[in-house]
Amino acid sequence: MSNLTDRYNRHLNYLRISVTDRCNLRCVYCLPRNFVPKLPHQDILTYEEILRIVRAAVPLGISKIRITGGEPLVRKGICDFLKELSEVKGLSDISVTTNGVFLKENIESIRSAGVKRINISLDTLNREKFKEITGQDCFGNVWESILLAEEAGFDPVKINVVALRGINDDELADIAALSFSHPFHIRFIEYMPIGKAAYQHSDKGMLAPEIIDRLSRLGKLLPVANGINDGPAERYRFEGAKGEVGLIRPLSRHFCCKCNRLRLTASGQLRTCLLSDRQEDIKTPLRKGCSDSELADIFIKAVRLKPFEHKLTVSHSDEVSAQMSAIGG
Ligand code: SAM
Repeated sequence: MSNLTDRYNRHLNYLRISVTDRCNLRCVYCLPRNFVPKLPHQDILTYEEILRIVRAAVPLGISKIRITGGEPLVRKGICDFLKELSEVKGLSDISVTTNGVFLKENIESIRSAGVKRINISLDTLNREKFKEITGQDCFGNVWESILLAEEAGFDPVKINVVALRGINDDELADIAALSFSHPFHIRFIEYMPIGKAAYQHSDKGMLAPEIIDRLSRLGKLLPVANGINDGPAERYRFEGAKGEVGLIRPLSRHFCCKCNRLRLTASGQLRTCLLSDRQEDIKTPLRKGCSDSELADIFIKAVRLKPFEHKLTVSHSDEVSAQMSAIGG
């Protein structure tokens, strides 16, 4: 039992931190094309503030951190920040989620900062389609980064794929087939219809059974047991494959009863559920000079209010108004 055990006896040891709401891409399922991030610089937590929050959270039971965004690698000083973060005693795991566009030039610094695991988002293997989905012609940069991440020894290199009917459904098996030649963990994510995005129609979202059906031509999916650092993905492997495929099913089989996550937004709000707009303001008290024990109390209060489960369903999409880019996924 830790200070961050909630009313439903879930031990929350995982903090996902969005370090910026800015992103160099405009993925159709994530953001509107003309989206301009709203947060003025002074409203975004400084690295020092994030480190102070982390240092207050570790004694409460946080041991695992993921850095996300927006796009974390567009924020200046990110590698120095990762280094400082890795020096915080009590953290056993630090990982990063990135779109990979700027990974190549940062990869050594990120690795030497102590980050061992990395998630790279890639929804297509086709350059033109990449441009359609993201608004930018940089498939080559991302693919090169993925190969470099493997070479640099990130273990695992996870590839996040949002499965969208009529957009990349014809490629899901080709993407999964990468697990035969590379030790990648390829994770197919059900589209979550939240916030405002260019493709806001839930009819594009594919549920896990349909995704599995698209993968079936590659062979039988053999279940893999979940390990200690595993999130909610259902893990599988094709016979003879070096890597794995996984399914993240927030809609068709949500994993709320096992949720161990808290999220800190770039604007300093603590969220206990990705799919609920309820949040606790941590930035204002921090900037007013609160003590570490007051910071700890904000965590404890937030955890007490963590909902048992989210209400998002395929047909009910207006529950969450916040943008995924502001929360970090
Ligand atoms: N910029 C980084 C990236 O692209 O990985 C980190 C932030 S991004 C919001 C984190 C993850 O959320 C990405 O893997 C992205 O594909 C996923 N994502 C964004 N919008 C989503 C949605 N509506 N449904 C499901 N996943 C989504």
